Amino acid sequence: MSVYKGLNYGGTEWIPKFVTSIDPEKCIGCGRCVKVCSQGVLGFGNKDDDEDADRMQANIARKERCIGCRACALTCVKKAYSHEPKAV
Ligand code: SF4
Ligand code: SF4
Repeated sequence: MSVYKGLNYGGTEWIPKFVTSIDPEKCIGCGRCVKVCSQGVLGFGNKDDDEDADRMQANIARKERCIGCRACALTCVKKAYSHEPKAV
């Protein structure tokens, strides 16, 4: 599978890994990932589950803006994120 690649400032190959999902079972709604995303990809809202509807969780609101930096995953203490390279 070929994947989308770029170069860093020094000319070394860089393979972005784009956000694919946030595990609702792991997310505790701390909001750290939403603050750290420089591209405005992530949103914040009530959980879908009726039993936990008063609790908050992060969501992927604008996936098309993701640059594949994985800052969200690195800041998430619950390891709720999944990322993948983009097939081309
Ligand atoms: S950092 Fe992790 S636990 Fe906190 S809101 Fe984001 S996904 Fe949920
Ligand atoms: S990978 Fe980077 S740009 Fe994409 S959602 Fe996470 S922090 Fe935002």
